[in-house]
Amino acid sequence: MKPFDVTNWPCHWHNDVVCHSGQMCDGCEHQPAPEDKQNGKAPPVPLKWESDYMGRGMGFPICPACGDMPYSTERCIFCGQPFIQDERTKAYNEPPEVERYDCLVCGGKGTVVGGRSKSNDHFHGICEACGCRVLE
Ligand SMILES: [Zn+2]
Ligand SMILES: [Zn+2]
Repeated sequence: MKPFDVTNWPCHWHNDVVCHSGQMCDGCEHQPAPEDKQNGKAPPVPLKWESDYMGRGMGFPICPACGDMPYSTERCIFCGQPFIQDERTKAYNEPPEVERYDCLVCGGKGTVVGGRSKSNDHFHGICEACGCRVLE
């Protein structure tokens, strides 16, 4: 099988343009203005939430209009669909609480500082003493 080449995909909005941003459509220079996208002028709808396979955390936001990950809880960057802001989007956008753990690499006490992903509850942290990264 050919390795997955993310540098060679066509742009989401223009089939004849090769995507050079690795399909990071958020911030792509080729994207139309939000109002010019398919659902840009549609009334706001509530986001759909899909939990990961472990069922942990609050899940990932899904655009109910096009079924893509919207990259934003305000408006889908693909189809322009605006979303209703509710308790869940508010909670999702709050910065994670800082947690501290002992470092298994250097033995530092409480030197690993990080937070949990709102989506799947995985912990991401970095040790202040030895600089190692901790992903759970
Ligand atoms: Zn969408
Ligand atoms: Zn350490």
